Amino acid sequence: MNIVVLDGYTLNPGDLTWKDLESLGRCTVYDRTAPEEAALRAKDAEIVLTNKTVLSSDTIKQLPKMKYIGVLATGYNIVDIEAARDIGIPVTNVPTYGTQSVTQIVFAHLLNLAQHVAHHAQTVRSGRWTSNPDFCYWDTPLIELAGLTMGIIGFGRIGRAAAKLALAFGMNVIFYDIAKPSSMPEGCQPAGLDDIFRISDVISLHCPLTSDTKKIINRECLGLMKKTAFLINTSRGPLVDEQALAEALNNERIAGAGLDVLSEEPPGENNPLLKARNCHITPHIAWATIAARKRLLRVAVDNAASFLAGKPQNVVNGVQTKDFR
Ligand code: NAD
Repeated sequence: MNIVVLDGYTLNPGDLTWKDLESLGRCTVYDRTAPEEAALRAKDAEIVLTNKTVLSSDTIKQLPKMKYIGVLATGYNIVDIEAARDIGIPVTNVPTYGTQSVTQIVFAHLLNLAQHVAHHAQTVRSGRWTSNPDFCYWDTPLIELAGLTMGIIGFGRIGRAAAKLALAFGMNVIFYDIAKPSSMPEGCQPAGLDDIFRISDVISLHCPLTSDTKKIINRECLGLMKKTAFLINTSRGPLVDEQALAEALNNERIAGAGLDVLSEEPPGENNPLLKARNCHITPHIAWATIAARKRLLRVAVDNAASFLAGKPQNVVNGVQTKDFR
């Protein structure tokens, strides 16, 4: 059994082990693979794992030995799943592994916006406190979260977990979701999208990227938001009209933003958010705690093992029947 991992570096830059995957077959792990290199590198593999390397219809057709594609992520838009289905190849994903980690960074960003701990610690390190005339100083407004309202767009796994933490901070929670919620956690109120924009002190995005949600944060809704409001986006970059958000930040239309994702990753130098006022960007790290990556790798190996045992799990393109024993 030949197994090829096309782009293993971000999942395992060296702090995890591939040994469980290696127990399933002869394993070749590439750190990164350009789309045009994929067909050559995977040509002898029955099992192909990819995180962000695109497997287009064209590439899939060039891999007659391939029997299985495992995506090392939740989102699988990088694989042409219909092309794989047409030739009976199951494509699997890892549906949940990072809910708590993503939720944690929502609050890392929110607490940063509220009290700028790293900034103030840096001023102390650079000597400012020792020469300060008063016993304390601060450079930014310091904000108490208790009593503020968090508006959550997309009330699924991560949105609900974020709501729980917001409630623990004494915040009020309102949410908007296109689906009728199966249950309503105590303390959370549904609201229309316009009300989310008008009422919230903090808006946190937790819906998937779809044609409906692309640029769900745009000039018009930024115009409805409180001037003191913060926007947190840990979901997907294209949910936000980046030019409109940069202008809203620079014109003090809203107070600040915490972003873990951008429309293009890595971003181009001209991305207007890179230098926008009070805009704090992390390089798509919400998913990458060691606990979440361990869980992801565990499920990816289980997915491949289940396929080899003739019972594929977490299949996203409906191909269940490939018998590969
Ligand atoms: P989920 O499927 O459990 O929840 C998504 C929710 O969004 C669902 O309740 C769905 O009904 C709702 N939704 C769909 N379309 C909507 C719309 N038009 N308007 C409002 N709500 C809508 O997903 P999850 O596990 O909570 O993950 C949420 C998102 O987090 C993912 O889509 C992904 O983009 C992102 N994510 C980011 C990272 C990271 O590293 N930054 C890691 C994991 C997930």
